[in-house]
Amino acid sequence: MQFEFTPEQQELVALARRIAREQVAPRAAAIDEVGEYPEEIFRAFRDAGLLGVGVPEAYGGAGMGTLGLGLAVEQVAQYCCASGLMLLLTKLPLMPIMLGGTEEQKRHYAGGTADGSLRGAFCLSEPDAGSDAANIQTRAVRKGDQYIISGTKNWISGAGQADFFTVATKTDPAAGARGMSVFVVERGTPGLTVGKKERKMGVKGVPIHQVVFDEVAVPASAMLGQEHQGFKVIMGTLNSVRPVVAARGLGLAEGAMMYALDYARQRKTFGKPIIEHQGLQWMLADLAVRLEGARLLTYRAAIEVDQGHTGKADAWKLSAAKLSATDLAVQAATDCLQIMGAAGYMQDYPMERHYRDAKQLQIVEGTSQIQKNVIGRALLEGDLHW
Ligand SMILES: Cc1cc2nc3c(=O)[nH]c(=O)nc-3n(C[C@H](O)[C@H](O)[C@H](O)COP(=O)(O)OP(=O)(O)OC[C@H]3O[C@@H](n4cnc5c(N)ncnc54)[C@H](O)[C@@H]3O)c2cc1C
Repeated sequence: MQFEFTPEQQELVALARRIAREQVAPRAAAIDEVGEYPEEIFRAFRDAGLLGVGVPEAYGGAGMGTLGLGLAVEQVAQYCCASGLMLLLTKLPLMPIMLGGTEEQKRHYAGGTADGSLRGAFCLSEPDAGSDAANIQTRAVRKGDQYIISGTKNWISGAGQADFFTVATKTDPAAGARGMSVFVVERGTPGLTVGKKERKMGVKGVPIHQVVFDEVAVPASAMLGQEHQGFKVIMGTLNSVRPVVAARGLGLAEGAMMYALDYARQRKTFGKPIIEHQGLQWMLADLAVRLEGARLLTYRAAIEVDQGHTGKADAWKLSAAKLSATDLAVQAATDCLQIMGAAGYMQDYPMERHYRDAKQLQIVEGTSQIQKNVIGRALLEGDLHW
């Protein structure tokens, strides 16, 4: 086990930190206030080369893997959780293509992601199927050399900007998880409609939309992987993105703690800075310990993904990282807001935004309860032992 980053990884952290402090931090409050996707941040990421950090070199990226992407996301999310999600979206919708696509599809979509000419959205959730992904109702029916896709996807991050959509469907509805297939669908395909922007609590810089597929015809070659094998592609995608969601939680917790610490050094009660009250030091000490634990889990999980360990036996490690870092983010935002008293509750400071943003992390890409189910199953089946 080694705890040092390579010189290349250290340079990446320094670069992401600079972009986060110079470009993201000054705009974070306005991004939240306006509630629109910040194109100028996307351009800043593109110009700095951050969109391709996790894309393999063979497809035009930096080849720094899930760990590299997670490190960049962590820095950015210290100031703006939505901007961290923008970077995460260079992996989530692309992953089904990397797992099941042809060489040509990988070159096209991964290359476009890395150079910023293409953006994607990942379409799994539906009005009646979130955690229970195998229960999706979207159908894809073979007709000659095409498939016809019909169904409704809910809460799709980045759908407003997406050039392509990776879509989970049922090709054999009676077969449950064994009847799923995944497709890539281009924006502008007749029958595909991106619905209105939803009103939500936080992470407002990345709006979510409903995406409706009304008899959308795609060539059979748009299928990613084998027919009926889509569940594997979906689970492989979600598992490999868990460390990056965790990195958003780490960054948010770090940002909240740095701000609260600074504030607590300035603010005085009973004749001394509030940081000198032991009750507050203990709150921060508890958070710091949990943060260090979550960082280790997250970095290990990212390395596991980069080593190709995303199958059932290793899934608990990825879930443990996501669970611990996102639960920590909520706790850190709650405690740091408390440390700031009324000021924490005011929109003049970033803490109430961190508080609203953090909650999203416990819900997306597998809720905290679903992560515990994965870890519980690993315990029962002996994958997790000492
Ligand atoms: C801001 C935001 C962005 C999103 N972006 C995307 C996106 O880009 N693409 C996409 O496909 N989806 C997206 N989603 C949807 C997200 O993935 C789902 O909300 C999530 O999977 C949970 O599904 P659900 O909301 O239907 O909750 P449900 O599945 O209905 O669960 C409701 C509650 O029951 C609990 N629960 C369910 N089953 C179990 C169980 N077996 N054991 C214990 N507890 C259980 C859950 O933990 C939860 O607390 C987004 C959601 C949000 C809020």
